Amino acid sequence: MSKKQFQTEVHRLLHLIIHSLYSHKEIFLRELISNSSDALDKLKFLALTDEKYKGINFEPRVDIFFDHKEKTLTISDTGIGMNEQELDENLGTIARSGTRNFVHSMTGDEKKDSNLIGQFGVGFYSGFMVADKVEVVSRKAGEDKASKWISDGKEEYSIESAERDTQGTTVKLFLNDEGEEYANRWSIQGIIRKYSNHVPFPIYLHFEDTKFEGEGDDKKEIKEEKVEQINSASAIWKRSKSELKDEDYNEFYRQIGHDMEDPLLYMHTQAEGTLDYSTLFYIPAKAPIDLFRADYKAGVKLYVKRVFITDDDKDLMPTYLRFVRGVIDSEDLPLNVSREILQQNRVMAKIRSSSVKKILSELESLKTGKREKYNLFWKEFGIPVKEGLYQDYENKDKLVELVMYKSTRGEDYTTLSEYVERMAPDQNSIFYITGGKENVLRNSPLLEMYRNRNIEVLILSDEIDEIVITTIPKYKDFELKSVNRSDAADDLKSDDDKEREKKIEPLVKKIKEKLGGNVKDVIASTRLSDSPSCIVADENDPTVQMQHILKAMGQENLPEFKPVLEINPDHEIIKKLEGASDEALIEDISFLLLEQAMLVEGMELKSPNAFVARMNRVMNKAI
Ligand code: ADP
Repeated sequence: MSKKQFQTEVHRLLHLIIHSLYSHKEIFLRELISNSSDALDKLKFLALTDEKYKGINFEPRVDIFFDHKEKTLTISDTGIGMNEQELDENLGTIARSGTRNFVHSMTGDEKKDSNLIGQFGVGFYSGFMVADKVEVVSRKAGEDKASKWISDGKEEYSIESAERDTQGTTVKLFLNDEGEEYANRWSIQGIIRKYSNHVPFPIYLHFEDTKFEGEGDDKKEIKEEKVEQINSASAIWKRSKSELKDEDYNEFYRQIGHDMEDPLLYMHTQAEGTLDYSTLFYIPAKAPIDLFRADYKAGVKLYVKRVFITDDDKDLMPTYLRFVRGVIDSEDLPLNVSREILQQNRVMAKIRSSSVKKILSELESLKTGKREKYNLFWKEFGIPVKEGLYQDYENKDKLVELVMYKSTRGEDYTTLSEYVERMAPDQNSIFYITGGKENVLRNSPLLEMYRNRNIEVLILSDEIDEIVITTIPKYKDFELKSVNRSDAADDLKSDDDKEREKKIEPLVKKIKEKLGGNVKDVIASTRLSDSPSCIVADENDPTVQMQHILKAMGQENLPEFKPVLEINPDHEIIKKLEGASDEALIEDISFLLLEQAMLVEGMELKSPNAFVARMNRVMNKAI
């Protein structure tokens, strides 16, 4: 027997699981059954494709035993099994980076963290929530020796040799006080039906039935060993839609999505004809925590003729739909299809492309039919869907219709098509503002003129918007224009505006002279009403926020993009400045007009000292 220390990360993980998932401890059974189901999947696949395993005696099943008196619960499967080395590696260390990420992603919020648990594959350890000792006896298919892994889930574990008649794994939990309630027929049945009803292998529960025979003094208690299959064990996606209820779909989702909540949406397709396949897709109600990680876990599993092939192929879905959960089952692919073959396979490409179209069209119906629900969807998954605009050229027209933005019209999201419907007949462009959080943008001076003229402006407050919006230069016949750019207001200029522009030209020239190389240009603004000035990007330069993004992406050597300063001819300060003659004061005020506009945009001033000195000089004169 050898004793070994848990890897530090496992140790931390165990601690976190036991303490943070406490109120959802029943999921341990789902996790252990799901491990058994994976092990059965693996062996089933080998038995069908690999000569070495073809002759094996294999009856795929999961058996569950409990002992109320001894307080034990045992989950046994006839799956692929593990040898000594695998027991050590799989149950003593965290080999996969995904699990390490899990440890770092723990939020401390119990509900969120327990949703994470399966996503990162830390399932086995959840057994220690209900047990103070766990024994795993396992024998690998095709090998003779069995081994036993034992641990109390604290510091260390040990491995010794053991006996097992057939291949497979038996996990025995020595239940603690919190886990005692699970050594009970009804609670086991309840949990399995809730989470694991559609595991595609039979799960048998072994229990003792007590019967009474005879009457009066002759009455005898007879105990009888019984075995009962407690799950429906069917591949739900192969069953006819008419016999399935919402609850069946939701139950299957909770199982494969490792989620406690019901999904927002499901879509079940059974295609026959040139290609035979079934798909069952789900959109979760909440975004998975790894949604924005490069090493996110794929959500769609591939089956061929009901045989599990992989749950680790990110190419089954485009990345912008990485939050979709579910199953693709094809009748036309070969069982031994490899990842390389999959990538070039025409059958797979067709299934994928129709799956994407199906998902997008279901989202479209959700948008038109159940807007409240679609709003929830958009809040969770709007950002990845927007990524689709530059990833999926084929479906771009559909994606553009799905995109929603906040707008100055109210608090709600709006689609581009709804915006266009509301436009006044003389409005020729769609306007949007970018560059910061929603509340900052809503208060931006750049919006003043639009507000005064009752023109709606879209509020693009996600960082990704700045990049994505450039892929939609036009919607229907209307150009999309950023109010952050100097030319946006051009087509809104009235004759009055042009008149004023002319009148103020000498002052504009003067300010430009004073500011010298600090600005690209100074122009009279038609978009301001309450503020004396604002800055915008030249129509050919990246906007200020875009410059931030480029810098954040590591583009250190950006040329310096100078802003265009716009001044408001109708503002008191500007009017007074037109009549001013104190050259030093004009210079200070010119700089202050620029600097205050930069501050409002969230930019840093090159020299805060110079700014403060200027302000003090002006204050001094004002008193
Ligand atoms: P996950 O199942 O998400 O990979 P677990 O911590 O639950 O994470 O299990 C770790 C590994 O241990 C599994 O990937 C698998 O290789 C192995 N394992 C766990 N349970 C079994 C089982 N019943 N039969 C065979 N292998 C198992």
